[in-house]
Amino acid sequence: MQRILLIEDEPSVASFIRKGLSEEGYEVTVAHDGAAGTMQGATHGFDLIILDIMLPDRNGIDVCRDLRALNVRTPILFLTALNTPENIAWGLNTGGDDYLAKPFKFIELNARIKALLRRQETTAAAPESELWTVADLTLDDRAKTVERNGNPISLTATEFRLLLTLLKNKGRVLSRSEILEQVWDINFDLGTNIVDVYINYLRKKIEAESSARLIHTVVGMGYVLREP
Ligand code: CA
Repeated sequence: MQRILLIEDEPSVASFIRKGLSEEGYEVTVAHDGAAGTMQGATHGFDLIILDIMLPDRNGIDVCRDLRALNVRTPILFLTALNTPENIAWGLNTGGDDYLAKPFKFIELNARIKALLRRQETTAAAPESELWTVADLTLDDRAKTVERNGNPISLTATEFRLLLTLLKNKGRVLSRSEILEQVWDINFDLGTNIVDVYINYLRKKIEAESSARLIHTVVGMGYVLREP
């Protein structure tokens, strides 16, 4: 399921967008001000951020600039009532990817989101974005190699996909069902502990006795890959 962060202070607009996007099958998280939005956008792996410009505590364009400075590459769609060409140019020059003026029809918002997500998938397939790292571990999705502290680690295809999924969601707790869906493409309860079994295989390979722990169990929730 694709995850969207909506940074919007007006409750009626936020609930209208959230409801529509949930019906479209997206998982929507709402932040009601710029500070909360920056924090959420920087620490969780969203697929897209919808960012209002007029926020109570700070300007959405500053939020966008901060997120880009924090190396967050998630596509950002600005929403605003200030649809002058100067504002549009300003927003896009700060690292926004698209722009929608209020009031808008939901059908247009939805179409723009789909287009941004498609563009993101194409970008993600480009070679320059195929290196993933956490602490001293690096995974190269193009060469299909993994190394920790310079030492190569040999993984099976499933272990590799599991590690890649954890890396893509670094810092975010993934439930067992999310892992099943992303690694095995299974979206129903298998009734087995296959995820736990593979997490253990992976831990044995990437967390050798001397190196710091990277995969953490969150009781009752799932697993998270984190900087030590
Ligand atoms: Ca607003």
